[in-house]
Amino acid sequence: MRIIDIVIVGGGAAGMLAAIAARESARRRRIPDKDFSIVILERNDRTGAKIRISGGGRCNVTHALEPDGLLVKGFLKKGEQRFLRHALHAFRSGELLELLYRYGVRCESRPDGKVFPVEGFTASDVAHAFERMIEERAVTIEYACTASSVERIDGIFAVTAGERTFRAASLILATGGVSYPSTGSRGDGLLFARRLGHTIVKPSPALAPVLTTDKPYSGLAGVSLRSVAFIASAGGKQVSRKGDVLFTHRGLSGPAVLSLSREVAELFRTEGSCRLFADLFTDLTQDELQELLLSEARRNGAKMVRKFLQQSPEGPPAALIPLIMRLAGIPEDVLLSGLVRGSRIMLLNTLKRFPLGSVKVVPLAEGEVSAGGVSLAEVNPKTMQSRLVPALFFAGEILDYAGEIGGFNLQAAFSTGWMAGESVVGSQ
Ligand SMILES: Cc1cc2nc3c(=O)[nH]c(=O)nc-3n(C[C@H](O)[C@H](O)[C@H](O)COP(=O)(O)OP(=O)(O)OC[C@H]3O[C@@H](n4cnc5c(N)ncnc54)[C@H](O)[C@@H]3O)c2cc1C
Repeated sequence: MRIIDIVIVGGGAAGMLAAIAARESARRRRIPDKDFSIVILERNDRTGAKIRISGGGRCNVTHALEPDGLLVKGFLKKGEQRFLRHALHAFRSGELLELLYRYGVRCESRPDGKVFPVEGFTASDVAHAFERMIEERAVTIEYACTASSVERIDGIFAVTAGERTFRAASLILATGGVSYPSTGSRGDGLLFARRLGHTIVKPSPALAPVLTTDKPYSGLAGVSLRSVAFIASAGGKQVSRKGDVLFTHRGLSGPAVLSLSREVAELFRTEGSCRLFADLFTDLTQDELQELLLSEARRNGAKMVRKFLQQSPEGPPAALIPLIMRLAGIPEDVLLSGLVRGSRIMLLNTLKRFPLGSVKVVPLAEGEVSAGGVSLAEVNPKTMQSRLVPALFFAGEILDYAGEIGGFNLQAAFSTGWMAGESVVGSQ
């Protein structure tokens, strides 16, 4: 029975980079391609399903920051930063961009550091570039090939897919997370890893919208709150994130909501319920906001409160003002000079803690990524090799990390994939 040198389960960003790095490493060691077989098993009939839909079809391939900055901005948990540091240094965003450039995809950095292909290129062009890299590196891809079980017998991995069994000296599991299951990433690799003895941190949503039970503002779907603090509160605990919040037909989305969704899901899970709010004047404390109101009333008492809110440069969008007035119990035509102390306090409370409803669900399937996965403690961060099973490697979102929006997740998948591919050759 033929033994393949490396079997990679999953042909996403991580799996493809692992194959590319493994071949390059083998060639550097002057191992002829025919003497070193690399096989990717991919459930779909194409590679890179998530790359193709990433960044709204434009693919935010990476972030322009150097590795240390990228870690701090992209990965909020210290343990994840520590784990990913080696991989992000070993294969940097610059190296990724150089690789893409060599295959005809030019990219540029936006002012916020997000890197996209230049005008005229799409996410499919990025996926196509990787397909060509794979082709040139003599990697076999078994399409429409779903691995259903993995065993390790006498030091050799046996991966079953339908009627076939692939035997491998080394195995890289790069099956992704569990969100957007229609792309093929359904958590199969987590079952394989568990069966091989690894601890799996239960998958949970990240970068997901938050659906609310009460939808008092369904009429506001499409309206954005700019630079607010999005707050989730339950059982005396509170988490918040600054940024934009978007009202949708089902609840809330937008950068601040997506970014906080992992913590919201956790709070909702542990406390059983979770209330949501927005601080509409996040740069001012309640006292400073009160002082602003009072000084404006002294200067311009004949101005309506409604007008004051409309004209505040960092104030709420016009569509929200009637709601704010209603929630604060203030008639529409009240003047600043007529705002009595009780009403002023109600108004301040509403502006600093505008209610956005209660969490109904943070849908795991709808996250751009999922948190949880193979426990980082059981994987060597310098090689991506299992600390428990010889010749077993992991790469990409199957691992227990989840990055922020901004190209961080693809870069982590590329870097961990690269590192697994590099290390696997040296380990044989
Ligand atoms: C809508 C959307 C937009 C996104 N946009 C961005 C973005 O712009 N920038 C960014 O940085 N990140 C983005 N992400 C996140 C990013 O795409 C992922 O984090 C990244 O693709 C993960 O790469 P991966 O290779 O680890 O896993 P995946 O890309 O999920 O690849 C896993 C592969 O394994 C295959 N597979 C799974 N199980 C099996 C099995 N049993 N047998 C055979 N094959 C199997 C799957 O079919 C899949 O092809 C986005 C995600 C989504 C869902």
